[in-house]
Amino acid sequence: MKELLKKLVQAETTEEKGELGAAEVVCADFGLSGIESQIDSWGHNRANITAQVKSSGQNKALLFVCHLDVVPPGGVRWEYPPFSAVEVDGRIHGRGSADMKGGIAATVTAIRQIVDSDIELKGDIIFFAAAGEETDSCGALRYVRGLSVMPELAGIIIPEPTDFEVVTRHRGIFWLKVTTKGKTAHGSTPELGINAITSMKAFLDELEGYEIAYNPHKLLGSCSMSINRILGGKAVNVVPDQCDVDIDIRTLPGQNYGEIISDFEKIFAKLKKKNPQFEAEVSVIRDVAPFETDENSDFVKDFCSAVGIGETKAVGFTTDGPHFAFLGVPGVIFGPGKPHLCHKPDEYIEISDAERAVECYKNIILKFLS
Ligand SMILES: [Zn+2]
Repeated sequence: MKELLKKLVQAETTEEKGELGAAEVVCADFGLSGIESQIDSWGHNRANITAQVKSSGQNKALLFVCHLDVVPPGGVRWEYPPFSAVEVDGRIHGRGSADMKGGIAATVTAIRQIVDSDIELKGDIIFFAAAGEETDSCGALRYVRGLSVMPELAGIIIPEPTDFEVVTRHRGIFWLKVTTKGKTAHGSTPELGINAITSMKAFLDELEGYEIAYNPHKLLGSCSMSINRILGGKAVNVVPDQCDVDIDIRTLPGQNYGEIISDFEKIFAKLKKKNPQFEAEVSVIRDVAPFETDENSDFVKDFCSAVGIGETKAVGFTTDGPHFAFLGVPGVIFGPGKPHLCHKPDEYIEISDAERAVECYKNIILKFLS
């Protein structure tokens, strides 16, 4: 398991490099136990991988949903190089070690150990690991679109880092891009142009006083909005004709995404009334529904008893889970690794946590499928 985890970290699966290397690592590891897997590759080394362990089919199947990609390491210096998978004091260090190469290594190892033990399975194990979960869910959407047959499922398990908490709910994502348009002019004659950055400032000033309407959720808390990227201008002596901001909104069940768009358009109209030269538009970058599974469902209760955990949780981050909601089956997010280490420099995973996860996933498989 540890060697598999190291190879997965070393595969350096940022969006730029693609996921193919990690898919090949998983494929080779499954192969050691005679498990066939299928790599679906496209574009610039982008890749999904799937595997299915067949059974007698008396029980409903389990679907494990992972992601192969990682976020970039960022500009700061890491204590250990981010893709070297250095082992120190019982920890594997590296980008993706917690999110979620640890969960993948544990899941693959658990499936292999079950297969190697010759236990007779009454339900299929389906393994899926996606490209692009951190950016646009391209892998999950591609997989879901291409699905023709899927055995009836008992539930979906997402081995993301929850530090062994059973998570049944998370918020949704609504990412927006606002673009203001202007007219270029020489920087020495700004009165001949329309400055898109000035227009963006007017919009951002208005946005500060805007609150998204929502009903707080008793488990998920509140909806949040954060302006996380701004781009504008070409040179110090050119009046900019375009400025973009990317806005990260995290949503609650029942929220109307269309209403948020129309609120933005109302702000544009107000600004245009004040200044007829104001031009802006809003577009959707990404749209993922919140994830909700009834914590009182039989699946969740059986899952909790298999892993020896009494209660469930809701979290603020998002997974590929909502893309599988159309299947109408319960799902939980449960895996090794500390969520607070994810997407930050010096990410690591305790090897003992990844090993504990192997036992947990085996227990889950045995509970539902034997
Ligand atoms: Zn993740």
